[in-house]
Amino acid sequence: MANAVPPHNHCMMCMKSIPVSETLCSEECKQKYQKMMKKKRYLVLAMWVMIIVFLGILFFSDYLFG
Ligand SMILES: [Zn+2]
Repeated sequence: MANAVPPHNHCMMCMKSIPVSETLCSEECKQKYQKMMKKKRYLVLAMWVMIIVFLGILFFSDYLFG
């Protein structure tokens, strides 16, 4: 029994096989990945803003009308 597949990674964007030391296969995928991460970060930030606004409304409605 031999190891059929040597250790390798897959590009996170296009799933191509790449060396273990890499996470992305090309400059193009790196740029795509960075764009995706930026979007993700923006979504997380937007979520936090919504939570804080929601808690603020809860807090102030209790404070004003409770
Ligand atoms: Zn790729």
